[in-house]
Amino acid sequence: MVERVIKNLKSRGFIAEYVQTGEEARKRALELIGSASCGFGGSVTVRDLRIYDSLLENGNELYWHWTVPDEKRNETRKKAMQADFYIASANAVSEDGLIVNTDGTGNRTASMFYGPRNVIIIAGVNKLVPDLEAALKRIRDIASPMNAKRLGLKTPCAKTGCSDCSSANRICRITTIMEAPSTHTENVYVIIVGQELGY
Ligand code: SF4
Repeated sequence: MVERVIKNLKSRGFIAEYVQTGEEARKRALELIGSASCGFGGSVTVRDLRIYDSLLENGNELYWHWTVPDEKRNETRKKAMQADFYIASANAVSEDGLIVNTDGTGNRTASMFYGPRNVIIIAGVNKLVPDLEAALKRIRDIASPMNAKRLGLKTPCAKTGCSDCSSANRICRITTIMEAPSTHTENVYVIIVGQELGY
């Protein structure tokens, strides 16, 4: 399946590659970013790979709303959209090469197609799904409930499962399907990792 995903991502114009481990993904991302500035999407995958920490040690200019006080979050999200690179994960990548994401705020989804010119998307094999329907199901049944639990939100999915809720805490507000890199971006790298990463 990984081979088909990579082949189909490439045929859509993404710069796709496979690495076996999270450590290899981390090194590849650092190599791509070099000394450039970088914005970060909310991502357990990227957090766990400690990419922010490594770039911080390197002295790169970085913007990640997860690292700042609440009152600075909006400003930081906007600055992240103006960096040289943007890095995040995906909620699902389909076998036919679609990259599917759902956000509450929309900064991550928007930054993947109308922010930095260079985007790096790192996705563990647990994010790979057969098709768009399975991608949306994965987001509803796995990614969003786990994120709701991580954030301590009182949404139905945090307890029993998705009910397409009207909760004030709803985190599923913006869903994007990237069929190809946007005309605004120059390089959209997709690194598929042969390990389970994030959710
Ligand atoms: S729509 Fe509501 S209940 Fe369903 S996954 Fe999203 S936040 Fe959870």
